[in-house]
Amino acid sequence: MRIDPEPKFDFSDVLIRPKRSTLTSRKEVDLTRNVKFMHSGKSWTGVPIIASNMDTTGTFEMAKKLSKLQMITCLHKFYGPEELARFFASFNAPDYVAYTLGIRDEDFDKLVEVLRLGLGKDFNFICLDVPNGYLERYVEMVRQLRKLCPTHTIMAGNVVTNEMTEQLVIEGVDIVKIGIGSGSACLTRRQTGVGYPQLSAVVECADAAHGISVDNSCGRIISDGGIQYPGDIAKAFCAGADFVMIGTLFSGFEESGGVIVEKDGQKFKEYYGMSSRKAMEKHYGGMDTYRASEGRNVLIPYKGLITPYLEELLGSLRSTGTYIGARKLKEFSKRATFIQVQRQLSTLLENY
Ligand code: 5GP
Repeated sequence: MRIDPEPKFDFSDVLIRPKRSTLTSRKEVDLTRNVKFMHSGKSWTGVPIIASNMDTTGTFEMAKKLSKLQMITCLHKFYGPEELARFFASFNAPDYVAYTLGIRDEDFDKLVEVLRLGLGKDFNFICLDVPNGYLERYVEMVRQLRKLCPTHTIMAGNVVTNEMTEQLVIEGVDIVKIGIGSGSACLTRRQTGVGYPQLSAVVECADAAHGISVDNSCGRIISDGGIQYPGDIAKAFCAGADFVMIGTLFSGFEESGGVIVEKDGQKFKEYYGMSSRKAMEKHYGGMDTYRASEGRNVLIPYKGLITPYLEELLGSLRSTGTYIGARKLKEFSKRATFIQVQRQLSTLLENY
């Protein structure tokens, strides 16, 4: 046993220190990034914000709205090949959509069928998603996926440490998904005792991924989970994230999954973890007895259409740019200095 004595931070443990700036307006802050991916060889331009591949956020409706602002939607993995074919018949923005799969044999069989139907050209990203990216079987799946889809940009995780980030990049992952126990609907820290404060995970894994480079491109990371406020997105980019994945903040909208429920005269939408009992029952007909629920189920007040919210979110990010003197999103991490702040005990307990 060993205790790592170095302090680790979550988003709520820090603030970004303002810096002298020559910018005169938020309009001058460019939030798009141009990125070349190491393995797929593809170049991408867009706003590097991603709707999570949860069935409450990774919906077709979300993809239609986010793609208009050059953001990515990771479609959830429960859409069938025919549904996908119908969707892609009228959706032509492969740079802003990801196909998601897990590591079950049937997930791979479905991907093969989707490729056979010729849909591979309709999405440039593939997300190989498991809660625990440390399994040897997972790494084997990454290798198989890279062989099957050599020119797709592969996102995969989740991991939280530098050595596993490096291994995934070396095995063929273009963008490593970072975050264990960070999601708001996640009970992993509570149920298993495992996790890593998200801001520190991002700093350490970004350093590891960016350190591996080939032909003017390098490994990339996504900060996945734990975004409670728009300012947390800015903190994630400042910490070195290339992309930020969002669940809760994109839930409760018209375009989010699930039905509207009414309670005491108020409208809500459900938001639940993908390994919650609710998700297991919905998609797999129940929960295996050897498992425990590692996800919460919460009601989110209904928020209407998402586009005005997205525009506000981008406004907040531009504002961060003006505070730290960053003209481009790429400069956020170079310009940022974090200040450690004292957290209230109540916040600590809430986040746990
Ligand atoms: P949020 O933005 O809501 O804080 O986090 C979203 C992320 O939480 C997802 O992208 C995913 O990585 C993670 N997540 C979703 N459902 C579950 C779950 O049931 N258990 C765990 N451990 N993580 C989850």
